[in-house]
Order: sequence, then structure tokens, then C-alpha cells
Amino acid sequence: MTTVTEAQADVNAGTRVVYLDNNATTPCAAEVVAAMLPFFRGKHGNPSSVHVLGVEAARAIATARESIAESIGADPEDVCFTSGATEANNLVILGITHSRSNRRKIVISSIEHKSVLGPCDSLADRGYDVVTIPVTSGGIIDLDAARTLVDDRTLMVSVQGANNETGTLQPTEALAEMAHERGAAFHCDAAQMLGKVPIALGDSCLDFVSFSSHKAYGPKGIGFLVARNHIRDVALSPICFGGGQEKGLRPGTLNVPSIVGTGEACRLCKCLLTDDARRIASLRQTLEDSLRRLIPQAVVVASSSPRLPGTTSITFPGVPGDLLIARTPTVCMSMGSACTSGSLAPSHVLLAMGLSRDEASSTVRLSLGRYTTPDDIDMAVGAISQTIRSIG
Ligand code: PMP
Repeated sequence: MTTVTEAQADVNAGTRVVYLDNNATTPCAAEVVAAMLPFFRGKHGNPSSVHVLGVEAARAIATARESIAESIGADPEDVCFTSGATEANNLVILGITHSRSNRRKIVISSIEHKSVLGPCDSLADRGYDVVTIPVTSGGIIDLDAARTLVDDRTLMVSVQGANNETGTLQPTEALAEMAHERGAAFHCDAAQMLGKVPIALGDSCLDFVSFSSHKAYGPKGIGFLVARNHIRDVALSPICFGGGQEKGLRPGTLNVPSIVGTGEACRLCKCLLTDDARRIASLRQTLEDSLRRLIPQAVVVASSSPRLPGTTSITFPGVPGDLLIARTPTVCMSMGSACTSGSLAPSHVLLAMGLSRDEASSTVRLSLGRYTTPDDIDMAVGAISQTIRSIG
């Protein structure tokens, strides 16, 4: 079997590249690709068709839906396929405003992803009151501040489960209870959690949860919203119209290969999660310890907060992150979120945690994954420390 590292070496014509950007996207698992392939040719029916190929595709969708739901403790009936977490977030945030409630306040956190901030900005333009809960210097939502902000005018609270830049894990169950006590719904953007930390929605009180397949070794351009609206009878309206798929909530022909791939990705995540998390956390420890030993001024962001096992954001004071990335082409790492890189604005997440603009601009994110090896970590430490010595 060709490993991901070998495949990378091929792609880069002999130059080995270490991939430490798994929060931006993960490689598709080989099992996922194999599961998808028959659904491009041969088993290519439209699941809405009534003939034999259509029925076969519809069955494959049903099986994938069950596998996905089982991996996160959800009811398959509540899974609504979308093009990814961006669309799932938009669907909840815009879709809930059509509910019959006359509440016009949305509460989010200061470290949400742009795919939550964007639809909230558009609601603010429409006269909604969008209020932001601050985070502590450790990157965790300030629950005392939340208590003062969530009130009986609040339609929904939306807070991510894990931050894409620092990996900090948020107290979403406590926030959901707080929202419910005030009669508001709760949405969690869990795009970064799938396959990394256990998710048990059966025991949870989250109303809406967004997921993305490509963060969990599945294909890009597919994700799903778990809409547990029946629990508290909160209706969502579609933001797209024209077909009856996904009970009319997300019309359009279902992306059968990608949905099948997501089913397989979720099945694998469930089997591998405990071992993956333990191994990845230990590799991250080695990475952080080694970099701190070689570059004593390096600071790991949110190091004492609960974090995803494979995410680390490290500030190298005086070393511009974009320069470090450009001068270390053998290590794939990033600054801020992939969606924002390319713009020179410092990360809103790091600024919200109290880092200065200089500190934020000197911070890079390294995110490990299932296919990261000890050798990758050695190579990355060597390459990063060499670049920093050459810049300093
Ligand atoms: N939310 C978070 C926290 C993310 O990290 C991302 C991906 N960068 C998204 C939402 C968007 O996911 P997708 O790429 O599936 O649209």
C-alpha cells in the first residue's frame, strides 16, 4: 500500500513534504476512495429515480446515513446532507430566522469560523442583534459573560465545539443548557471535532450540529447538519428551493459518491478514534517539546486549555509566520484558517485571546492527523528550527 507520505513525495518529484495542515483538510482514507469509486460509474443512479440503479443509490445513501449517525450517536432521520460545514452553518443561522419566533438576537463567540461570522453579518444587516461572547486568554468561552448575554430575546446561541486554529474545546453542553433555560436554540459548529474527539449526541442537548467530511479523511465538498429540532420543536426553513430532497430542507440531487465516502469515513473514525487520538496527542507533545527546546522563546498558544489532540498553534516571537511558511516549503503548515490565509490580517481568534497583532502575526498552526509519523515530526522540527535560525 502506498503511504500518504510516499504519495506526497511523488507529487513533489522527489522532495519530501511533511503535511501538518490536517485542520485545513485531510487526505481521503484509501478505504473511503475505494468505497466511493463504484458510485461514479456503474452504480451511478440518481437516488430519486425509481429504477434499479436509482434504488441501489438510495440504499447506499440510507446505509451511509446510518453509519454517520451511529458514529456520533445521532438519529439517522436528523442527518441532512450539505456541501460542507459552511453550508450547514449558513442553513442553521439563516434558516432559523424564518421560524415563527419574534426573537431577533443571535449570540455567538468571538472565535467562530468565518462560515458562522458571515451569515451572522448578513443577519446584522437585516436588523438582527448579533452579540459576541468573549473568550479567556486560554481561548475558552467565558461562561460568566455568556450568562449575561443570553436572554429571553435570544433566538439562538451558536458556539463551535473545537477551534480550528488553537484546537481549544468549548463547553457547548453548558452553553446549550443556558440557551434552553432562556428559551433559545443552540447550534454547534463541530467541523473540527469529527474523528478527533468522541461525539455522543444521544446524551447531548445540542439542537443543531454542523459537520464536514474532509476534516475526517472523507471527500471535500460534502458535510451534514444534524438537525435535532424535534427535541424542542424549532423549525428550520430551507435557504435553497426547488426539490424535495432531504425533506425539502436541502433540495438538489444528492452527491452519492461523496455521501458514501462520508459514511465510510465516519465508520473508520469510530473504529480508529481512540488509538488515533492517543498516538496523535503523543506526537504533538514531541513536536511542542522539541520546538520549545530548540527555540526557547517559542510559546504554545492555549497550552493549558483542553484541546484537540493534534492541533498546536505556536508563537515564534519576532518571526513573521508568513515568512516562516514561505521559507519552509518542506512543511505544510498555516496561519489562521485556510479560508483567511492569503489576507495579511492577523487572526481574529488570536486577537480575541489577547495576543498582540505582532504575536498573532508570528503564530503558525501545525495540525497532525492519522497519517502523521514520528519521522514527519523529526523532519518538521528540523526544518522549522533551521528556518527560524536563518531568519533570526
Ligand atoms: N467550521 C470550522 C470550525 C472549520 O474549521 C471549517 C473548515 N475550515 C468550516 C467550518 C468550513 O467547513 P467546510 O470546508 O466543510 O465548508
